[in-house]
Amino acid sequence: MPLTKVLIVGAGPSGLLLALLLSGAGIPVELIEQARALDTNPRASHYTAESCFEFDRAGVLDVIESEGFFPDGVSWRRLDGERERLCEIRNPNAGGKRENGEKEYRMVCLPLHRLGKILEKAVLERGAVIRYGWKVVGVGQDEGKAWVDVEKDDGEKERVEGEYVVGCDGANSTVRRKLYGDDHFPGFTWEKQIVATNMYYDFSPYDYDDSQFFVHPEHWHMVAKIQADGLYRVTYGEQSGLTYDELKARQPEKFRAFLPGNPTPDQYKLVNFSPYKVHQRCVKMREGRFLLAADAAHLCNPWGGLGLTGGIADVGSLYDSFVGIHTGRVDADEILSKYDEVRRGIWRDIINPMSIDNMSRLFKYDGPEEAIEKDPFLKMMVEREVARKEGKVLEDLPGPPPLRHDMTQYFKN
Ligand SMILES: Cc1cc2nc3c(=O)[nH]c(=O)nc-3n(C[C@H](O)[C@H](O)[C@H](O)COP(=O)(O)OP(=O)(O)OC[C@H]3O[C@@H](n4cnc5c(N)ncnc54)[C@H](O)[C@@H]3O)c2cc1C
Repeated sequence: MPLTKVLIVGAGPSGLLLALLLSGAGIPVELIEQARALDTNPRASHYTAESCFEFDRAGVLDVIESEGFFPDGVSWRRLDGERERLCEIRNPNAGGKRENGEKEYRMVCLPLHRLGKILEKAVLERGAVIRYGWKVVGVGQDEGKAWVDVEKDDGEKERVEGEYVVGCDGANSTVRRKLYGDDHFPGFTWEKQIVATNMYYDFSPYDYDDSQFFVHPEHWHMVAKIQADGLYRVTYGEQSGLTYDELKARQPEKFRAFLPGNPTPDQYKLVNFSPYKVHQRCVKMREGRFLLAADAAHLCNPWGGLGLTGGIADVGSLYDSFVGIHTGRVDADEILSKYDEVRRGIWRDIINPMSIDNMSRLFKYDGPEEAIEKDPFLKMMVEREVARKEGKVLEDLPGPPPLRHDMTQYFKN
């Protein structure tokens, strides 16, 4: 039986992308969002080739690529002296565009709030319904349907039903809390916190790449260009236990200490400032007719951009699963259980360990020399760098393990 309605809670990037994909496949969706407008905090900005595959399937890759840019690569650097690169990964296609018909996906960079606008416009153009100002406060299900109870911002209350409900409602997910309780989100919170900023500063005298990580026990940080007009994301580690006001007061001194040229606030323009607690957590992603995806289901630190990349891969797997159900090619119960098994496995085996390594290698050693000696990734990369300088021919680096999982392989016909 074709699906008659999938309810999606949360108009963040994962909810919007799922709504776009499903409505493109003729599956009716209703998207429920508590806020009146999309979130504009500085968060994701880099989308891997795998994410671009899903954007392409949703029909929005061309506009994302034309509004964004292709970063030239990433380096890991020391902070002392000339801030030399310890190692780097170059993107050979930097600045390039896909040729007609070419399906070679590459990392693209665009701030999340601009991606959200693109997705929102496309969802509305496809005729899908977005209910802004509707907050989900309760959930329930029986054999044939699932529902959410909403409180609208005009005070009215309503129960909305669908055949399935997908919680894409972010790290503090109400859907997850109502299914499993407020305290159930297995994993841990890092003792260190981070501060994400968006800022303009003239890095051109300093031989910076589009993205770089600095290995330092105190001033570990990342500087990445996130917009072609020279908007940069500067994210840095901070002591835990500080209040927002304390962190804000420390920011000028942090920038002066670790940015090249030791700038004072009159020398850069700070556009956004957002402290974050950082978590590594994952929960069961299916409970009957309820599914969870992206941050509602799992969290990781942002180093390496595995957060939303993993979330977008969830959305791709869920899309295929619902299309299989809608077209009668797969048993609903089997495929949705498979979704839970596969996606949690990918978080456990790839996203969680890789993201932990990505963040901790920046601060856990006394300095870059110890990091190169003890961190397997930096050691391998630095040895390659030495061999390259000696003129040796190197084999290509293996690509990162795939986060995407093709659910159509479980279709019966
Ligand atoms: C500093 C930082 C940098 C990052 N950089 C990257 C990066 O480069 N690449 C990458 O892949 N990832 C990155 N991430 C992670 C990424 O930003 C998140 O994974 C992503 O935003 C999660 O999207 P989402 O759709 O799951 O949730 P959100 O974006 O949090 O959206 C959830 C939506 O649900 C709504 N909602 C919540 N509760 C309710 C309710 N009760 N009723 C109705 N609606 C509700 C919210 O209002 C919100 O609109 C970064 C994160 C941080 C913190």
